[in-house]
Amino acid sequence: MIVAKFGGKSVANASNIKTICRITKQEIKKHPVIVVSAVSQVTNMLLALAVADSNDFNNIFRQIENAHFNLISDLWGKKTPENVKMYIASSLDSIKTIAGKIDKTKAEMDRLLMHGEMMSSYIVACALSLSGIKSEQVSAMDLIVTDEEFGSAEFIPQLTVKKTKKTIEPLLKKGIVPVITGFIGATEKGEPTTIGRGGSDYSASIIGYSLGAKEIQIWTDVDGLFTADPRIVQTAKPLSEVSFKEASELAAFGAKVLHSRTMRPAIKANIPVKILNTLNPKSPGTKIKVDTSFSSRIAAITSKKKIVLINLYSTEMLLSKGFLARIFAVFEKNNISIDLVSVSEVSVSVTLDNDENLNNALAVLSKFTSVAKISDFGIVSLVGEGIVKIPHVMKKIFTILDKQKIFVKMISLGATDINISLVIESSKVEKTVRSLHDGLIKL
Ligand code: ADP
Ligand code: ASP
Ligand code: MG
Repeated sequence: MIVAKFGGKSVANASNIKTICRITKQEIKKHPVIVVSAVSQVTNMLLALAVADSNDFNNIFRQIENAHFNLISDLWGKKTPENVKMYIASSLDSIKTIAGKIDKTKAEMDRLLMHGEMMSSYIVACALSLSGIKSEQVSAMDLIVTDEEFGSAEFIPQLTVKKTKKTIEPLLKKGIVPVITGFIGATEKGEPTTIGRGGSDYSASIIGYSLGAKEIQIWTDVDGLFTADPRIVQTAKPLSEVSFKEASELAAFGAKVLHSRTMRPAIKANIPVKILNTLNPKSPGTKIKVDTSFSSRIAAITSKKKIVLINLYSTEMLLSKGFLARIFAVFEKNNISIDLVSVSEVSVSVTLDNDENLNNALAVLSKFTSVAKISDFGIVSLVGEGIVKIPHVMKKIFTILDKQKIFVKMISLGATDINISLVIESSKVEKTVRSLHDGLIKL
């Protein structure tokens, strides 16, 4: 069997949903399992609804309602099945009730956000059935068991594998195509959770891992994994093949086309991943495989903005043992994940994706080191197998940056020889990506 995940734009209009039906028909012999995101922008709208004042509330609610009613009317017009209308109406009622409550906890936010994926999966399952493919909507709450980190929950492998197999395998045996909600799961107690923004890619990979899929397909709105974000670099091109390691680094360092955690389950179960374009299904896309190895290349350049840079300085560090362990223990205790690290005899610099839980950690750290927190920085990462072995690679990078008067605040060269990351001012991120892409990527 294969898992095919369709993102927000892929389910946003009738024409794209018809493409999903065609793709599913073509792949039917491979026993496809479909995973879908909420309709494009719906998760953003639900988040906005939760914080809207009474003036904006009705307006945003109307937009969510229109996104779905326009979609089903576009798909079926007057022939829209009653059950679909009723499902959307009842989901909208729940949305209104939950979002209307003042002071929502993270758990309540997840109970609100899940409706985006519930509605899109219901519509897609119905579209498949009406196009002659036996299909059923499946809520990932019945498959993916997570911890209680609402908003960015992590799946529990053993429990998830058991539940997913138990629910999905009988459907596949009966020739039914399951249409599973991306982005959501449930705790052991059955409370809905979400697994982080853009998490439907990760859902697909978790489900592929749980079922031992032959392939995981990520259908999106571009022709594959590009040499840079095509919104930043117009000349960027899709890559035909990348290695598991390259894809993991690119996802972790900002290539939005793959959620940062997507590659982990795929690597664990050795499942190839393909990135394909629903808007251009004939394009070959990008293959991500384990046995792909390249001798020294820069595959792609990615970037992240609004990261937080923490500089820690202490002369106690000089020749002392266990100092770094003490520092990292504080981050771990506060559930903070570190991206880049740079160490000297008396200082440590780390970068973080955001400043969640940070105040507490900094208060503890400041008891034994001096601490400076700097915002307004970004990371530009050059990623490729064997990157550090490219002759004069650092000289080439710094010659380009020098010409553009781009100042590097921190640099990280992974010993794994796959990633060179530069910390620079947020406002210079796009310029840096463009200049390095123009100068270093051979198209
Ligand atoms: P989906 O809704 O299908 O999950 P996303 O918006 O999450 O789609 O991801 C696709 C988008 O990722 C593309 O439209 C593109 O703008 C962006 N992107 C960023 N970096 C890259 C990259 N290196 N290659 C391809 N797309 C990228
Ligand atoms: N709908 C969710 C989001 O917008 C998940 C996804 O699109 O992958 O974050
Ligand atoms: Mg996405």
